[in-house]
Amino acid sequence: MSENIKKGGISVDAEHLFPIIKKWLYSDKDIFLREIVSNASDAITKLKRLDSLGEISLPDQDYRIDVVLDKTAGTLTVSDNGIGMTAEELEKYICSIALSGAVEFIQKYEKDESGKPQEGIIGHFGLGFYSSFMVSDTVTVETKSYTGAPAVKWVCNSDGEYETFESDREERGTSVIMKITEDESALLSEFKIKNILEKYCSFMPVPIFYSNAEDADKDDEDKKEPEQINDTTPLWMKAPSECTDDEYKDFYKKVFGDFKDPLFWVHINAEYPLNFKGIIYFPKLNSDFDPIEGQVKLYYNQVFVADNIKEVIPEFLLMLRGVLDCPELPLNVSRSYLQNNGYVSKIATHIVKKVADKLNGMMNTDRENYEKIYDDIKVFVEYGCMRDKKFYDKVKGSILFPSAVSGKMLTVDEYLESAKEKHENKIFYATDKKIQAQYIGMYEAEEADVLLLDRALDTQFIATVEADREGVKFMRVDSDVADILKNGEAAENEEITAMFKEVSGNDALEVSYAALKDEKTPAIMNEDEQDRRFADLMKLYRMDTGDQAPGKAKLVVNISSALYKKAEELISSDRKDDAKSLCKHIYSLATLAHRQLTADEMKSFLGDAYELLLKL
Ligand code: ADP
Repeated sequence: MSENIKKGGISVDAEHLFPIIKKWLYSDKDIFLREIVSNASDAITKLKRLDSLGEISLPDQDYRIDVVLDKTAGTLTVSDNGIGMTAEELEKYICSIALSGAVEFIQKYEKDESGKPQEGIIGHFGLGFYSSFMVSDTVTVETKSYTGAPAVKWVCNSDGEYETFESDREERGTSVIMKITEDESALLSEFKIKNILEKYCSFMPVPIFYSNAEDADKDDEDKKEPEQINDTTPLWMKAPSECTDDEYKDFYKKVFGDFKDPLFWVHINAEYPLNFKGIIYFPKLNSDFDPIEGQVKLYYNQVFVADNIKEVIPEFLLMLRGVLDCPELPLNVSRSYLQNNGYVSKIATHIVKKVADKLNGMMNTDRENYEKIYDDIKVFVEYGCMRDKKFYDKVKGSILFPSAVSGKMLTVDEYLESAKEKHENKIFYATDKKIQAQYIGMYEAEEADVLLLDRALDTQFIATVEADREGVKFMRVDSDVADILKNGEAAENEEITAMFKEVSGNDALEVSYAALKDEKTPAIMNEDEQDRRFADLMKLYRMDTGDQAPGKAKLVVNISSALYKKAEELISSDRKDDAKSLCKHIYSLATLAHRQLTADEMKSFLGDAYELLLKL
């Protein structure tokens, strides 16, 4: 029997502190395991440091952490062969300091608006160990210091009352034995514990082994050997020059559970004073409709801290996937801490710069492949540019648009350069290759290029480019009849205007006349660029009334067309009804070439067409 060498209570405050600790130390209870395993890992790191400093000399040995689940006893044990603690250290680190830290915590941050102590702050005060009480009835620490001092055993109940005993432990290191509470009995499951370990400890620097206590006693084939949970040298810790493409891809697939290869990645190894490492991956999305939800995991010295910490990663990069290891940040970060932290904003700036460098690098040295993946990263690039002007400034030379005519990928500068002889500072674009085919065809006939802006953010993004480039204007092919398409303006034919108003059923229809170079098309619809953009925006924010008022579009009648001439002829030969049905048809065809017809329009158009055919 071990002799009781000390008996005590963790001061009066403990009564008040323990319930708080148990309830609110972390909103996510599973973190207790991260805290206990991190302490074990720290204990090994400390010992190694002493060794490397020459303060002690250790025999060659394997450092390891063992997590053992004993379902029968209802315990979870975390053991390490690290530095250990003497009785005095145990008293100092586990019993007093931590709790004085807690008192400080309570005083300083007692409550937020909802009356709860603020979460996440506690880690600053060295309370991680106490998170074990969130899930345990009793916590036993058995430890032997590297100094050779006698081993000690400390048993503490959930009211904070502890006893210290002599221990006959012989191996150096510490075991923390947690007797799991009734309420948390779900933790007594191999699946659950491995799951928590995989989440938080997958890349800790010391090998962590999981085993079931029952296997220790077995001696047969059924015995399962302890299973290593973690990869002690995650890829981000290696120098980029030492990593192969396959390693990057495998790492990505393993960490993010994606079966598709990432498009590319950026390995960041920021040295002093930033001092952080990480890999940012660009995932391959299936379509515009894939949820663009990335996952950037934040680590602290290889210990998982959290997913998607908005404050550290610029918002637009949250669409990406990646890992960031920032040892300069505390393990338990609070949002308010991050929000006002100069270091954090420097990290964000650095990441943005690296991502921009990567895009520019691919654009400049590997354009062919860059063009191939561009479609997949487009949403990200455009969104990033819209969110962050600095990012836009850095990558603007690497933003591409496909030509609706040739399919080639062009930058704004390349487009303007090749167009400058014909039209300056205007960029013609289409948003739908099929619906706007007629307009595109007219530009093509004049050897003018049209960019295809048919992806999710394209049309909003052009406002960013326009704001940046004075004088440059994006014009949708159906917004205005460009000068290059015309031979000149023409005078109004009032009779024909009246007919169009009548057949369209829209008395407010604006009708204008022009002589187009294209002699086939009798009329086209135009919609003012700014008005249409505004309407599109309303639609996007669902502020439209729902009915697609077709009244906004103007009709431009082409006096050079044979059909227009025909209408004139019919009028002068007094066949006004025929002229009217011709106008109706011209109007329907112009609408059809401009947008989708409504059901009623379609029915009436088909009816008119059948009738017309009868006249053949
Ligand atoms: P923190 O780790 O943030 O300092 P903890 O409450 O988790 O706070 O731990 C308090 C102290 O107890 C540690 O700083 C360390 O000195 C000691 N300690 C905890 N776990 C171990 C362990 N497994 N081996 C050696 N020392 C430990």
